[in-house]
Amino acid sequence: MFRIAVLPGDGIGREIVPEAVGVLQKIDKKYGLGLEFQYGLISEDAYAKYGHPLPQETIDLCKQSQAVLLGAVGSPQMDALPAELRPERAALLPIRKILGLFANLRLVTAYEPLLHASTLKPEVISGIDILVVRELTGGLYFGEKRREGAGPEERAVDTLVYTRAEIERILRFAFAAAHKRRKHLTSVDKANVLTSSQLWREVAMEVAKDYPDVELHHMYVDNCAMQLVRNPKLFDVIVTENMFGDILTDQASMLSGSLGMLPSASLGGEVALYEPAHGSAPDIAGQNKANPLATILSAALLLRYSLHHEAAAKDVEAAVVAVLNEGLRTPDIMEAGCTPVGTTEMGEAVRRRI
Ligand code: NAD
Repeated sequence: MFRIAVLPGDGIGREIVPEAVGVLQKIDKKYGLGLEFQYGLISEDAYAKYGHPLPQETIDLCKQSQAVLLGAVGSPQMDALPAELRPERAALLPIRKILGLFANLRLVTAYEPLLHASTLKPEVISGIDILVVRELTGGLYFGEKRREGAGPEERAVDTLVYTRAEIERILRFAFAAAHKRRKHLTSVDKANVLTSSQLWREVAMEVAKDYPDVELHHMYVDNCAMQLVRNPKLFDVIVTENMFGDILTDQASMLSGSLGMLPSASLGGEVALYEPAHGSAPDIAGQNKANPLATILSAALLLRYSLHHEAAAKDVEAAVVAVLNEGLRTPDIMEAGCTPVGTTEMGEAVRRRI
């Protein structure tokens, strides 16, 4: 038996997660994987029932599972709560930290049928295949925060801290990933300004000695943002710290056509977590408009990284490409001549192809 904790969360999380679970159930039938799904509450529903967006019950459920499938958190109601109870700060960041998930992998692929759905020119994005390795449990999002004083002198302080050990483990992870791919690693920092980035760069050069076959390039984050839209074919594996990775991957998602196409896997602990790279999209929640493919592709990563079942993972990815080739499109990737479908129809179409 392989237990998966399912946390749909808020907004479109409640619509896209059932589609991905349906895909996993179909895969389970086909390959006899013995999947078991246990549902847990996070964010709005958890707050309503337990008074906290990340109750102990949910933490225990995740720890007792082999993998976690998460939708997204965040809603206008929850975002109005005091900072320490807001779902990203009180649920999302803590669950990643508690599970020790220091490495977030986001795969940016140009799907041929979607080349014209991107705002970028097809010849710029055709053939791209980028793996972004984002450090997930350190840096600015986890450093000490405080507000002090009042009036014009009021100060808000966020602290950016990285230890040598934290930098080294994410870099080793990224070098190992690059070694298995096209052997090209771009380490993204802001070493011209930030001391944490200077340490990052030093450690990158040290770790590089253990991976002589991987070509290491350093790039400032501002240049990287520009190169991602100018010439994304430059990149194979990108490794970067938490906040830079957060921002660069949203930008990179447009190379795949939409934020709704970008899956992610968070690894490093005993239990891995899989979620789409996007948020809860309150603007389209409850309207059957959300693209479920990022979550379905995250389920494929679950099959690959947690179940080590490459054939099942490829089966899901091929089904996604097949429905795109059929011309089915949710509104975010819609183009003239294609067939508009909603969230549930898209999920059903992928299941039919498995
Ligand atoms: P968002 O990612 O939710 O949405 C950004 C834009 O992309 C919106 O226009 C949205 O409609 C669109 N979009 C996102 N996912 C889509 C999908 N699957 N299909 C079609 N369109 C999609 O980011 P936001 O609007 O900045 O934040 C909304 C809420 O989500 C906030 O409360 C924020 O804190 C939260 N959030 C959560 C996560 C997470 O759970 N990992 C990540 C980012 C933001």
